[in-house]
Amino acid sequence: MGKPTGFLEYPRALPPDRSCEERVEDWQEFHRKPPPELLREQGARCMDCGTPFCHTGILVSGMASGCPVNNLIPEWNDLVYRGLWRQALDRLQRTNNFPEFTGRVCPAPCEGSCVLGSIDPPVTIKLIEAAIAERGWEEGWIVPKCPAARTGKKVAVVGSGPAGLAAAAQLNRVGHAVTVFEAADRPGGSSCTGSPT
Ligand code: SF4
Repeated sequence: MGKPTGFLEYPRALPPDRSCEERVEDWQEFHRKPPPELLREQGARCMDCGTPFCHTGILVSGMASGCPVNNLIPEWNDLVYRGLWRQALDRLQRTNNFPEFTGRVCPAPCEGSCVLGSIDPPVTIKLIEAAIAERGWEEGWIVPKCPAARTGKKVAVVGSGPAGLAAAAQLNRVGHAVTVFEAADRPGGSSCTGSPT
């Protein structure tokens, strides 16, 4: 746990989004890049709960609760608070092939399950996740992970949405030769390409 009193000292805060007038002029991301100090404070709000409901992807009354990929959220919140960004990326990549996607488009059931949310606005988990991934790209820490040896086995993955690409990445990592098939004219999944499901 980074700062035991962090959740008492710092309110939940997000950087303001770009204005609508500005956004209609381009296709750039409408979220602004959060400053490092803001991220440090937001990471400090994490209480490192004994039962961290944020990272347990379970079903409660048929509804998803916590992170569906079991991200090690309290660990990387603490590492961001301490400025250990490389280690935070390593922790994030243990469970998540595409934090740059999920840190933006995931509906964040982790935040809906955050224990701090019972008394105060929840930890800005999604913001921190995206920031770790962005830092990884900026620093050149995200590189191909080539397997030490090939198994000689071939695997076909049908569909190039996040699930298909994550499966392909994991299979490649253990040495299989993977081919991803996609019906649309570009990878990314139906919600990205607009193709029918
Ligand atoms: S539930 Fe919230 S406060 Fe608790 S460990 Fe997870 S992010 Fe931190």
